[in-house]
Amino acid sequence: MLKNLGMGLGCRSAKQMMHSDVLPKVNAGKCIACGMCTEWCPAAAINVKEHAAIDEKVCWGCGECTVTCPEGAIKINWKTTPGALQEKIVEYTMGVLKNKQNKAAHISFIMNVSPECDCCTYNDAPIVRDIGIAASLDPVALDQACIDLVNGEKALSGSRLGENPGVEDKFAALHNNVDWSVQLSYGEQMGLGTRKYQLVKI
Ligand code: SF4
Ligand code: SF4
Repeated sequence: MLKNLGMGLGCRSAKQMMHSDVLPKVNAGKCIACGMCTEWCPAAAINVKEHAAIDEKVCWGCGECTVTCPEGAIKINWKTTPGALQEKIVEYTMGVLKNKQNKAAHISFIMNVSPECDCCTYNDAPIVRDIGIAASLDPVALDQACIDLVNGEKALSGSRLGENPGVEDKFAALHNNVDWSVQLSYGEQMGLGTRKYQLVKI
């Protein structure tokens, strides 16, 4: 839920900023000094003389220049850590929900649980059976409950966890370089919700 709120409802530049800790860079050898990037930069951060140069003190990191340059001379640096990415997701989620206090409810369909991020352009065999639909006013509690429900299931044979059906933490087994709990503990720390919940089955 947090990922779909923070990343899903973040604008394109927010998505870029969540995925990268460093600003775009100009490849001077490719730049033809056409000036198009300066027209699109919302922060007036680019100066073009012999080639474009980005003022890092002014740049927001929105990535607009990377898609407007006709020569592909400005590239995003896809550089961050899973922990930093998750913390930014929490912060953007807080922004999304800021003016919706007592107006937002959250629903997660625990079905077709893919082993990969839902951003991927493909899906793989579900790792567990379809569990159902979970809902809460608290997005942190909802995510914690969904994780616990998935981890409480036996992994499906034919899925990527098929050789390890009893694995306790399925997400850690699939992505051992990512500590998924960071976004939940940070969300709790930031006052977005609580990891404690009571599951009421209907
Ligand atoms: S990333 Fe955005 S703010 Fe930074 S130079 Fe490019 S267009 Fe301007
Ligand atoms: S749009 Fe690209 S080629 Fe044109 S000035 Fe900017 S960086 Fe250089």
